[in-house]
Amino acid sequence: DSAAVAQVVNPATGARENSYPLTTLDEALKAAERAKAAQLDWRKTSFADRAAVVGKAAALLRDRADDYAALMTQEMGKTLTDGRAEIEKCAAHCDWFAKNAERYLADQPVDVDGAGEVFVTFNPLGVVLAVMPWNFPFWQVIRFAAPALMAGNGAVLKHASNVPGCALAIEQLFRDAGLPDDLFRTLLLPSKDIAHLIESPHIAAVTLTGSVAAGKSVAAAAGGVLKKCVLELGGSDAYLILDDADPAAAAKVAATARMVNGGQSCIAGKRFIVVEAMKQQFEAALVKAMRAYAIGDPTEENTKLGPMQSVEARDEVHEQVEKSIANGAKLLLGGEIPDKAGAWYPATVLTDVAAGQPAHDEEIFGPVAAIITAKDEADAIRIANDSEFGLGSGVLTGNLDRGRRIARDELDAGMSFVNENVRSDPRMPFGGVKHSGYGRECADYGIREFVNIKTVLVK
Ligand code: NAP
Repeated sequence: DSAAVAQVVNPATGARENSYPLTTLDEALKAAERAKAAQLDWRKTSFADRAAVVGKAAALLRDRADDYAALMTQEMGKTLTDGRAEIEKCAAHCDWFAKNAERYLADQPVDVDGAGEVFVTFNPLGVVLAVMPWNFPFWQVIRFAAPALMAGNGAVLKHASNVPGCALAIEQLFRDAGLPDDLFRTLLLPSKDIAHLIESPHIAAVTLTGSVAAGKSVAAAAGGVLKKCVLELGGSDAYLILDDADPAAAAKVAATARMVNGGQSCIAGKRFIVVEAMKQQFEAALVKAMRAYAIGDPTEENTKLGPMQSVEARDEVHEQVEKSIANGAKLLLGGEIPDKAGAWYPATVLTDVAAGQPAHDEEIFGPVAAIITAKDEADAIRIANDSEFGLGSGVLTGNLDRGRRIARDELDAGMSFVNENVRSDPRMPFGGVKHSGYGRECADYGIREFVNIKTVLVK
């Protein structure tokens, strides 16, 4: 049955690569059951035992960085250089949680007058179903898995269908690191079967990183059986460029923010809201900074922009650009599909972006920067918050007090960075508000998502 395989298509060339047989729903349900049995043993292990496994995974990631980076290049077009950096980030994340999970999950004494001994403890929840996207094929999974495993949970992974090789490599990584065989399983399951898997009594909770549509569907399924759910969804991060910003420095942060992973990142800067007084200077500086991202072979060391993940995704981005132009946006750079096989799209800058244009109203998941003009600071804040999303946000200013105040009090987003592009880090909570989802990953907040926060009173 030719439909029952995941077929890899190399986005740089359009060539068909490996294919992998899909998991059936029945196999997935059995895997969940076995994962639950394995988790009942795993939850009794000490933090030191778990840290040995997760620390070993970090070492193996570093040993295999070149192979894993090549796999990502082949399956979703990431440059080899970015791929190696992603694997190092995964290794550092494993190390961080191997070292710090015990501290994050230490019992917390509570002083309740006359009640006796009271403390809060954190028990694991069980087996968590992770539904993950292709854009950071290793990082998205490890970001969830390292803390979840350290907390004593098990996991089954449903990865995006275009990265089956990465999905299986991660399962093998944990096995090689010494994790019990059944505790972390990769399932090459079509998304239509996810709701059934969520209903399994062996699945305790769900985490999904992906689009709003996928988030709604998984949250509805989890809600129907009252299971905990963490959602890391889309974003259309706004950066304010204020009248006291240095235009060249602001443009550099903006271009870096926009071009993370070829523009295919939830926390990529997507809307650049510049106050009128700075408009011309910022436009010129941003075009210059974006022009530096020339398209090239993702396997070459110095390439700054590889292909997008698929021709379909590229065509969707191009349509958003064309519609924005038809509705009044002005093209300053890029905007044309190169005449060659593969999923190529150039660094693109649009200005005069306004409501009613896809570049303003929707998330553009590709290398397209949208410049929006605001009258002043208050107008810029209003425009930034006038979005269905609330993941990251930024303020570019020469006045740190002003930047801190806007970041702290004004922007409706889970993260707000002043004079820096938003990034994830195991030490900082990561997540969004509004349609960017709910719940957090990383740090103490992240590791406590998939635990039973239990109150114990002894008298
Ligand atoms: P997507 O289509 O939602 O895919 C993400 C995952 O969800 C894949 O494993 C996909 O499986 C699965 N899926 C899709 N529809 C589903 C459904 N109805 N039920 C259950 N599972 C379903 O996401 P994408 O468009 O490829 O990825 C980009 C999106 O993810 C962007 O919006 C981006 O901003 C967001 N994202 C968010 C974060 C964050 O941390 N907040 C990070 C990265 C990306 P299949 O591949 O089999 O369809």
